[in-house]
Amino acid sequence: MTELTKTLELKLVDPNAHKRRKLREMREAYQHALQDAFDAGCTTQTEANDVVINYDLSGYAKNALKKYVPQLTTTYNAGELHDDHPVRFTNEGLRLDHKPENAIEWYVKIPHHEDYDLWMPAQPNPEQRGWLEALNAGDATMGESRLFERDGTWYLHVTATRDVEECSEVPAEERTPIGVDIGEASLVTVCHRDDHGSPTAPELWADEGKTVRRLRKTYFTAKRRLQRRGSERIAESFGDDVWRQIDDVFHRVTREVVQYAESVENPVLVLEDLTYIRESMDYGEFMNRRLHGWGFAKLHAQIRYKAVEKGIPVETVNPRNTSKECHACGEVGYRPRQATFKCTNDACWMDEYQADVNGAINIADRYLSGESRPREHTDGNDSAEDGGRLTAPQDAQSDAETQQETLGTYAS
Ligand SMILES: [Zn+2]
Repeated sequence: MTELTKTLELKLVDPNAHKRRKLREMREAYQHALQDAFDAGCTTQTEANDVVINYDLSGYAKNALKKYVPQLTTTYNAGELHDDHPVRFTNEGLRLDHKPENAIEWYVKIPHHEDYDLWMPAQPNPEQRGWLEALNAGDATMGESRLFERDGTWYLHVTATRDVEECSEVPAEERTPIGVDIGEASLVTVCHRDDHGSPTAPELWADEGKTVRRLRKTYFTAKRRLQRRGSERIAESFGDDVWRQIDDVFHRVTREVVQYAESVENPVLVLEDLTYIRESMDYGEFMNRRLHGWGFAKLHAQIRYKAVEKGIPVETVNPRNTSKECHACGEVGYRPRQATFKCTNDACWMDEYQADVNGAINIADRYLSGESRPREHTDGNDSAEDGGRLTAPQDAQSDAETQQETLGTYAS
């Protein structure tokens, strides 16, 4: 087991005038409290407490100051203060919420002062989505966070920690690729080839696909009805409940996918590259084939972080035609029915095959053929995942903290 720590980057999305004022208000109170405690030369938490207690700040910000000021005065021996210190909050000061039904999916609760919080929509760095899923599921722990403004935009940097297994040193070409197909009928399908190259042990989560479709339908029907009656609040809490149920299904399935991988010797989980999908498919094709953009991304993120927890590598491949080609001969066939793939090549021994399993094998095979994509996403110009790289103006101390990120290769 290794403890993996990362700084998660979130951008607050268009806070309205009221919230901007509240954020600035808090920053001002924080800066004053910091300056005050610093000028008073506080070298212990108790001394700092006596100063910061008088400020209108949340307990999380005050506690962060109590820890931080003695560090500045003793450890770092800072001569004077920079005037752009981020507002710090101690562990678990923030709360994260996921509402996949909304255009902006992530929300963050920022403690403003005692008994007053600000809920704000936030855009994460898309490459860190797995971490957010882990935090949201309680599989990662939230540490200290920092709030700051740059060029009129507010950012949050959240420290997160989780336990992971070391990845084994087996070379890539000696690994057994497990294709993971995410679809409409079967929520997830996995398959790999045995030592003789024959597809083996296909596993489909078809009932779960049905459950998720039913829940989504229930949600949209009820939401329309409730909105017509003007019951926005009920619609929202009902929605939260339904999406929580869907999330539970997702977590169980993604855990089982990783368990499947654990049962295979030297496994590598192979997923389709999301950015590639957006580039190579037209919208209709994408939506027809996929249960939904968000579901796809969410399942991927959950599989990724759970695989890393178990030391199982994850790779992505070019998804072009993985559902249309025959895994035996490579010819493009068709689907007479949702669950059936039909090969039209007369010379091919295969006639019909379970369509999702056929897709999963194709995905696995791309790993071997080298059609994989590097882990890094191209810069996100897609609105659904836009967020880009967010960097922060930071004081020297927080820079040092950011550098504690370990095992950078696991970035997920
Ligand atoms: Zn064929």
